[in-house]
Amino acid sequence: MPKRGLIETLADEIKTCRKCGLWRQRKNAVPGEGNLDVAVMLVGEAPGYWEDVKGRPFVGAAGKILDGMLSKAGISRSDVYITNVVKCRPPENRDPLPSEIQTCTSFLDRQIEIIKPKFLVTLGRHAASYILAKAGTETEGITKIHGKIYETRLLGFEVFIIPMYHPAAALYKAKYKDELDKDFRLLKRRLERIT
Ligand code: SF4
Repeated sequence: MPKRGLIETLADEIKTCRKCGLWRQRKNAVPGEGNLDVAVMLVGEAPGYWEDVKGRPFVGAAGKILDGMLSKAGISRSDVYITNVVKCRPPENRDPLPSEIQTCTSFLDRQIEIIKPKFLVTLGRHAASYILAKAGTETEGITKIHGKIYETRLLGFEVFIIPMYHPAAALYKAKYKDELDKDFRLLKRRLERIT
């Protein structure tokens, strides 16, 4: 089946999923969206308030910051696929629980297997620790590893994993915004090498 069909079937599964308790308070599950023939997949942590309302990833305040950073780096949002580690909003935007991450990430794994991005950009510590552990790579705190490029194998194919801060961090501290801008510029330079 073509990628679009596979992703849509998976999105239907996610929208009706009740595998962990997060379904109880969601308005909408947020499977993810974007171009499927892309080199870059962005993985955030979990939907927030507006993402839950609209059923789309990164459409709230953090999404605006992300859009601004992508555009400043010369990357179009239509050139990336965006999703999260967990697909339903945790109450009051709390961190997802380890059990919720464990239950939900089979969906993320399947999205990665379908899209097979060349670059997997993790946004925030939960996405970094899940993806790097899955790739069998030792993880450290996000302050130490952001902006590094891990060339590795994940789910049977070669990929570059680039951990970054979560864009929401830039809402609170200018220093995170500068680091994110720097890391997106790095991503752009690496993209130019393969296109
Ligand atoms: S967070 Fe994931 S596992 Fe839990 S109900 Fe939503 S889609 Fe299902």
